[in-house]
Amino acid sequence: MSDITIDNVRKEYDSDAGTIRAVDDVSLDIHDGEFLTIVGPSGSGKSTLLRMIAGLEDISGGEIRIGGTVVNNIAPQNRGVAMVFQNYALYPHMSVRQNMSYGLKLTTDLGGEEISQRVEDTAEMMGIGDLLDKKPNNLSGGQQQRVATGRAIVRQPDVFLFDEPLSNLDAKLRLHMRTELQRIQEELETTSVYVTHDQTEAMTMSDRIVILSDGNIQQVGTPAEVYAEPANRFVANFIGSPSMNFFETQLVDGVLHNDEFEYELPQELASIVEANRTSDNLILGIRPEHVSVDVGDGDSVTATLEVLEHEGSDNYLYLSKGDTEWTVRVDGHTRFDSGTEVEFALPPEYVHVFDAATGENLVLDRPASAESDGHSATA
Ligand code: ADP
Ligand code: MG
Repeated sequence: MSDITIDNVRKEYDSDAGTIRAVDDVSLDIHDGEFLTIVGPSGSGKSTLLRMIAGLEDISGGEIRIGGTVVNNIAPQNRGVAMVFQNYALYPHMSVRQNMSYGLKLTTDLGGEEISQRVEDTAEMMGIGDLLDKKPNNLSGGQQQRVATGRAIVRQPDVFLFDEPLSNLDAKLRLHMRTELQRIQEELETTSVYVTHDQTEAMTMSDRIVILSDGNIQQVGTPAEVYAEPANRFVANFIGSPSMNFFETQLVDGVLHNDEFEYELPQELASIVEANRTSDNLILGIRPEHVSVDVGDGDSVTATLEVLEHEGSDNYLYLSKGDTEWTVRVDGHTRFDSGTEVEFALPPEYVHVFDAATGENLVLDRPASAESDGHSATA
């Protein structure tokens, strides 16, 4: 058993400017064998949270349990965790073999023969079997990354902790290592907590994602859940690239008014928005791929194409209308010239409505079949 329970955990740092709360009462259950990613912008508390699980930072408040055991006061080497750092933290004066053996010598009573065998098997698995006698300085970034990961794997820990382990690799290698880490994790089924600022990494690698901002959890869910049903504007903006479109509006009689367009909410949405909002100030959100340029006889918005960006299979249209800017995804065959007036519709099943004051997504409880009937956007 190697599930992890994080129970009202807090971390405060004292600084000249006062107390910094890096992690603010975080509670989270990490399941045995899952790949969980903590994602958020720089400074949101990701590393601090991970380092508290590792035992590298004291906990200011709360409790962390690994496999049911409270580890608050257990030394890092006795927690059954192995960590991979962004800078790899390899010992420069040691060979790859020594780097990989060192932890085993320190924390187990395995014999020399057994340790050699384990190191060689793991090196084989990581594709670094022929590097065992080299020093880290003579390795490429990608090879150092494999050694750092191999050094964690060889210890056969209950938990892997990764802190932005791929950030120092070039884009192509990063993509490759992403799938490789996933493959290894699926093979070993070791509970893994992976920290990254990169939402694409989080979306592609994880069983579940935790989105962190200012030391607070914004949402926990599968990649599909946080994408389709972002709990608030922060998550909606952070997850997905290019980002969701957002527009400030005022609600009057079931219609969202922006200076440049109006959007009539279908009855089902209007009533849940009415029930949950704290004021008339609302943010309408829609993802670029959900804006529909196949306009039927329903109402629509018309905006001017500023830039068309080719991305191979997709094209992105960057449009403007007065003060509003729109990003719209269309397929790679759809072409428009700059300056063209493009007409599009906002299908209500994909429209999000956020409370401007709280940021909360007001339409998470939308009925499963919000019909297109009765919706209209007019410019
Ligand atoms: P992330 O990994 O998400 O970029 P961190 O966990 O490193 O964020 O940092 C969270 C916050 O805590 C930041 O505001 C950072 O400046 C602060 N912080 C981190 N470590 C220390 C420290 N040792 N002393 C003071 N403040 C720190
Ligand atoms: Mg960090």
